[in-house]
Amino acid sequence: MAEDKHEKNQVPTGMPTFGASGRKIIYDENGKPCRSCNTLLDFRSVTKNSSLVTPAKAAAGVAATSAAGTTDITANDCPPDVEELGRSTWTLLHSIAATYPENPTPEQKNYLKSFITSFSHLYPCFYCADDFRENIRKDEVKVGNRDEFGQWLCDQHNIVNEKLGKPKFDCKLWKERWKDGWKDGRCD
Ligand SMILES: Cc1cc2nc3c(=O)[nH]c(=O)nc-3n(C[C@H](O)[C@H](O)[C@H](O)COP(=O)(O)OP(=O)(O)OC[C@H]3O[C@@H](n4cnc5c(N)ncnc54)[C@H](O)[C@@H]3O)c2cc1C
Repeated sequence: MAEDKHEKNQVPTGMPTFGASGRKIIYDENGKPCRSCNTLLDFRSVTKNSSLVTPAKAAAGVAATSAAGTTDITANDCPPDVEELGRSTWTLLHSIAATYPENPTPEQKNYLKSFITSFSHLYPCFYCADDFRENIRKDEVKVGNRDEFGQWLCDQHNIVNEKLGKPKFDCKLWKERWKDGWKDGRCD
């Protein structure tokens, strides 16, 4: 199958290389900052959409007015940044693992396999998707049963955690986190 790898991070002339957080800004193939590839902070630091807006513009969002009379707006109905998209996606993927059968039929195995393959081509953060496809080429998706898929997914999530400098999650605990709730009862 033809590989749909994007040109990674071509910085358009006159546009900044780094955002407010110090992370590299990711631009899409049209030279626009990619919303789902950057944090909101970085996205806003290179677009006209400053986080400081007039109170009138903040009507639809959760706003906190600063001493200067401007409003720092964090609306709750905007397109997702790389972090919100990631959190929501991991929630979906681990929840699929939690409800995947212990003894799946051949048809269910095929559905899961094609879902992960399609997902790896369609994930909106394109450079995340590029890396994910590379990772699942090295360690093919395991769909044999719930435990197998849950462990595989946990490992994949840990690869991303490591890349981002985050602590590794203890995969022995994935079912407590995503299926049964913690043993201390706080999810009951
Ligand atoms: C396929 C994919 C690739 C991504 N690639 C990138 C990337 O290249 N660059 C980038 O900036 N962001 C990437 N992201 C987003 C990134 O992984 C995080 O979702 C985002 O940074 C928000 O992180 P978070 O700290 O809120 O927790 P998340 O990493 O989103 O995790 C949510 C919750 O899952 C639990 N958890 C953590 N690790 C595991 C694990 N191993 N197994 C089971 N549960 C776990 C924890 O309770 C955590 O609070 C990617 C997301 C996906 C789905």
